[in-house]
Amino acid sequence: MSTTLNILIIGAGIGGLSAALAFQRLGHHVRIVERVKEIRPVGAAISLWPNGVKVMNQLGLGDTLAQQSGFVDHMRYLSFEGTPLTEFSLNPLFQQVTQRTYPISRFALQKTLFDEVGAEFIDLGRACVDFSSEDDGVTATFDDGSTLLADLLIVADGTHSRLRSKVVGHPVERQYVGYVNWNVRIPAELGLAPSAHWDQYVGENKRVSLMPMGTGGNSEGIEELYCFFDVPLPIGTPNDPATYRQELKQHFAHWAEPVQALIDRFDPALMARVEIHDIPPLESLTSDRVALLGDAAHGMAPDLGQGACQAMEDAWVLARAVQDELENLAASTKVALSLALKNYNLARVHRVGEIVLRARKRAGLIHGEVREKTQAWYDELAIEDGQSILDGIKQTVLAGPFG
Ligand SMILES: Cc1cc2nc3c(=O)[nH]c(=O)nc-3n(C[C@H](O)[C@H](O)[C@H](O)COP(=O)(O)OP(=O)(O)OC[C@H]3O[C@@H](n4cnc5c(N)ncnc54)[C@H](O)[C@@H]3O)c2cc1C
Repeated sequence: MSTTLNILIIGAGIGGLSAALAFQRLGHHVRIVERVKEIRPVGAAISLWPNGVKVMNQLGLGDTLAQQSGFVDHMRYLSFEGTPLTEFSLNPLFQQVTQRTYPISRFALQKTLFDEVGAEFIDLGRACVDFSSEDDGVTATFDDGSTLLADLLIVADGTHSRLRSKVVGHPVERQYVGYVNWNVRIPAELGLAPSAHWDQYVGENKRVSLMPMGTGGNSEGIEELYCFFDVPLPIGTPNDPATYRQELKQHFAHWAEPVQALIDRFDPALMARVEIHDIPPLESLTSDRVALLGDAAHGMAPDLGQGACQAMEDAWVLARAVQDELENLAASTKVALSLALKNYNLARVHRVGEIVLRARKRAGLIHGEVREKTQAWYDELAIEDGQSILDGIKQTVLAGPFG
């Protein structure tokens, strides 16, 4: 029988909650400490690509998330004026990787994870300010002066991570990717996109996206679309919900009718606005008894839809690496953890670093970092049959822990 560990997790985002569940499923004691008093996810929805869904399946949440998510099996690109550029089925991809994608409400996903972990294992309204690793464990210190001792500390405190620099041993600066994203949900019944289609309007180095996101399990059973607007802008432009509609009207003047209808009808109170940042790939994700996970480890541009999926992969790989060493080794917990963290780092550091760089490149292409390249991409879309897009997604999915 293997040892039961005390695992302390900082942050109850998608990454921290997925890690908690992965360790709980293996029988370990888990405590999450979260800075905010109430979990209120910022942003409308995310797309869980099959590699993320496969982790959720292993954690026993597949059926619940399938019910809450939207159904999409076609991808369509249109010019900003509404001319279809390319349209293709996602079904060959889903068949090859044996899993469909789940576009899902952030609120629903985080609530499902939270409830599954159990509120009794999550301390809200308490921020971690420091940690120190010793021979017999790792001690975290909190803003109320309290401390907690654990066998393993998982730092899942997001892109603004306060603890990341200490884990990697040097300051890490977030980098602005060069564009602003506004995202919102809107009732699907408005008919702004054909059912089961992910529509993306592209032009003028900007993008508008509409994707079915299901009901999120809402009691009224109302199907919604997850919509976002991307605009390349200098960093630090004003962020005032009262002017969102007017700004978007200016940025997207003369765009196609569904885009105009979306701008006229969205509810600014439901909208999130984010200046997109990433962090450069880290050379290591671990230090003694500590693992970085999720955006704290690899904050990335959302242009591949992989941030949360990679956090889920991290969670699974870390829990398995720890369990394998505990089961395989007749040595001390300290040695087992040290080997497990080494294996976690080996398995993850290049995988996530490569995706961070690829997401940044894709962000540059979509948002006119080099205008000629973006124009060439628009031209290519008009003759694209979807194969290269599907191949890119397939490679990312198949390189995950479940192939
Ligand atoms: C516009 C946009 C679209 C995206 N679309 C997708 C998509 O389609 N697919 C996809 O897979 N990913 C997507 N992502 C990425 C995804 O949202 C993130 O990768 C994911 O939410 C990261 O989860 P996390 O748990 O690592 O971090 P977070 O969700 O940021 O959670 C960190 C938690 O730590 C808490 N915390 C911070 N500091 C402390 C502290 N000192 N002590 C205690 N608690 C602390 C925070 O309050 C927070 O709750 C998108 C991101 C953006 C911005």
